[in-house]
Amino acid sequence: MGSVITVRDLRMRYGSKDVLTGVDFDIDAGEVVCLLGPNGAGKTTTIEILEGFRMRSAGEVDVLGEDPARGSEDWRARVGVVLQSWRDHPRWTPRRLLAQLGSYYEPYGTAERPKPYDAEQLLETVGLAPSADAKIVTLSGGQRRRLDVAIGIIGRPDLLFLDEPTAGFDPQARREFHDLIRRLSRTENTTILLTTHDLDEAERLASRVLMLAGGRIVADDSVEGLAHRIEGETTVKWRLGGESFAESVSDPTRFARELFARHGEAVRDLDIRRASLEDAYLALVQEHESGHGDAAARMFKEATT
Ligand code: ADP
Repeated sequence: MGSVITVRDLRMRYGSKDVLTGVDFDIDAGEVVCLLGPNGAGKTTTIEILEGFRMRSAGEVDVLGEDPARGSEDWRARVGVVLQSWRDHPRWTPRRLLAQLGSYYEPYGTAERPKPYDAEQLLETVGLAPSADAKIVTLSGGQRRRLDVAIGIIGRPDLLFLDEPTAGFDPQARREFHDLIRRLSRTENTTILLTTHDLDEAERLASRVLMLAGGRIVADDSVEGLAHRIEGETTVKWRLGGESFAESVSDPTRFARELFARHGEAVRDLDIRRASLEDAYLALVQEHESGHGDAAARMFKEATT
């Protein structure tokens, strides 16, 4: 498995505002990686640089063996992009648009990875078959988004970028979308990088999470790995003789054993709650929003390394 994306000391400045101040990460073939971070952290900026849609201020970026700022036609045909919303061709139908876009990819197909995707099959896969002949302008928000995804993958990309893919989805559409992404990853071995500020989405989809805050990657691990490393904040609650107690402890198992040794059966309603990744993430977001992003990033890094 080779590296599909390599980013070294990536920097981005808008005017006098530094948004990315030294971002480093690698993504291997077949991984589903989630770039997580509060609004304004620079997720879209990062992904647009990797897509070749935005010029970086400094740093090295390699995507599928090329610098996206100078990506060739061949390179472009291997990269799928799901934009926030495709606004073209309102009077076309999904079937016609996908057939048309798909035809552009034909010359880039190989025996082992024929291109494009079969448009009919893709319409089924994304659940758009019933609306295949409706005018695009008449599609609902959820249907639109499925079409956006279909447009992103019609060229059977090796690498797929998804920027906030489920923003505005209802729960049902979200679940279906998550199934689709997992299927793509499993059956096509597509490498996927998605951005979200939704931790639940990251947990459902990602094999790895990159957390962006204060202009840098402050955590890079599996979701379970991250949750595990955030320790020391376990809350133990119990009731004893009609009174409620709560304590923050670092070794909840030992604490509970001692509690029972001392009070036995009199201990009631024991509740042990380990700080979740969500707690840490929310704390980070809160710090960031109150203007202490750098300090929060440092604290989080210390807590997780
Ligand atoms: P995210 O996707 O994490 O919400 P963005 O990459 O969209 O973050 O934006 C990061 C920061 O850069 C924000 O403060 C945003 O206002 C700023 N920004 C984004 N695009 C531009 C631009 N074209 N010109 C100036 N500032 C920008």
